[in-house]
Amino acid sequence: MSDCLFCKIAAGEIPAKKIFEDDDVIAFHDIHPVAPVHFLVVPKVHVDSLAHATAEHQAVLGKMLLLTAKLAKEQGLDDGYRTIINTGHGGGQTFFHLHMHVIGGKPLTTNISDITTQ
Ligand code: AMP
Ligand code: ZN
Repeated sequence: MSDCLFCKIAAGEIPAKKIFEDDDVIAFHDIHPVAPVHFLVVPKVHVDSLAHATAEHQAVLGKMLLLTAKLAKEQGLDDGYRTIINTGHGGGQTFFHLHMHVIGGKPLTTNISDITTQ
């Protein structure tokens, strides 16, 4: 998609603080981190959101999860971390290329209720 920020980052047209890249996935630090560690794991193929994923994306979605665990360890998140996929306007998604947030490096709330309201 020509006007998609994450497609442009995946294509190397826009710089990012990259921590991993292969043919299928790119991971880079979020430009507005909400914690000491906050990176995004992004499939290179354009998919608008998780709601638009199909069976053809099964392999890359699985790869993203396993890669997340590896990268989180590399980033020093030994005590744990939170993964978030915002999906659609109602889910708080603002960039419509599927991506997973990986957040950690400070104590996170144990109660899910604090992220379910604005
Ligand atoms: P979401 O609200 O789930 O769609 O998340 C989009 C995320 O992309 C936000 O956390 C932004 O801070 C992040 N973001 C936007 N532009 C960039 C960029 N150029 N490089 C890295 N992260 C970005
Ligand atoms: Zn895209």
